[in-house]
Amino acid sequence: MPESARYKRVLLKISGEALMGGREYGLDPVTVDRVAGEVKAVAALGVQVCLVIGGGNIFRGVSGAASGMERATADYMGMLATVINALAMQSALERKGVQTRVQSAIPMASVCEPYIRRRAVRHMEKGRVVIFAAGTGNPFFTTDTAAALRASEMACDALLKGTKVDGVYSADPKKDAKAVRFDRLTHLEVLARDLQVMDASAISLARENKIPILVFSIHEAGAFAEVMAGRGRFTIITDED
Ligand code: UDP
Repeated sequence: MPESARYKRVLLKISGEALMGGREYGLDPVTVDRVAGEVKAVAALGVQVCLVIGGGNIFRGVSGAASGMERATADYMGMLATVINALAMQSALERKGVQTRVQSAIPMASVCEPYIRRRAVRHMEKGRVVIFAAGTGNPFFTTDTAAALRASEMACDALLKGTKVDGVYSADPKKDAKAVRFDRLTHLEVLARDLQVMDASAISLARENKIPILVFSIHEAGAFAEVMAGRGRFTIITDED
């Protein structure tokens, strides 16, 4: 591993909305391509990378449930949305020459591989980017939790959360001018202050498995690789000194 990378294996979580670009819904191909470029740059450092992508740009279970649908059914629709995003990202990465595999928590034999933990590890050891689709495979969960779960199962050194802003703030900096930015937090502080980084079950799972969470802006060019090198702007959530 080159000196420039601090971590050997990482999981990057991005929301579906991060792939929307300026659109109101769905996927913006230019944005998908740009994010794929960020992933390629990190894979090129020799870091093993896996991805969890949300589905909120297409469908969210809670909004389906709000319009009268049974929550579990709506959640399954949300999970299918994440498969669409995973396939779009796979295609963008492979166009750039990055080898990938999509593994779905809901088996979909003719579309992608089923989730098999040891197989996913093997793919990463061979330098393939593994994209985990369909969240945890269970309704009433989120892709944040799926990210913490897969990062734990893959024994990742870090969980990266690519967001709209360059770290964790005390309030939404786009809405509140007084919002304070944190450089460093513990998992417990995030939970106690109810900071909106990832949902509480994801934070708890990362805490139990001693996985640091690094929050950075996925919209800033080159930021993912910079964060991997310990440079650039990010908030680190860790229980270690
Ligand atoms: N979902 C689910 N179980 C999971 C992951 C996701 O039921 O393990 C559903 C849930 O309905 C969620 C939707 O998939 O609203 C899309 O995922 P999420 O909202 O986490 O996407 P993001 O906000 O990251 O784009």
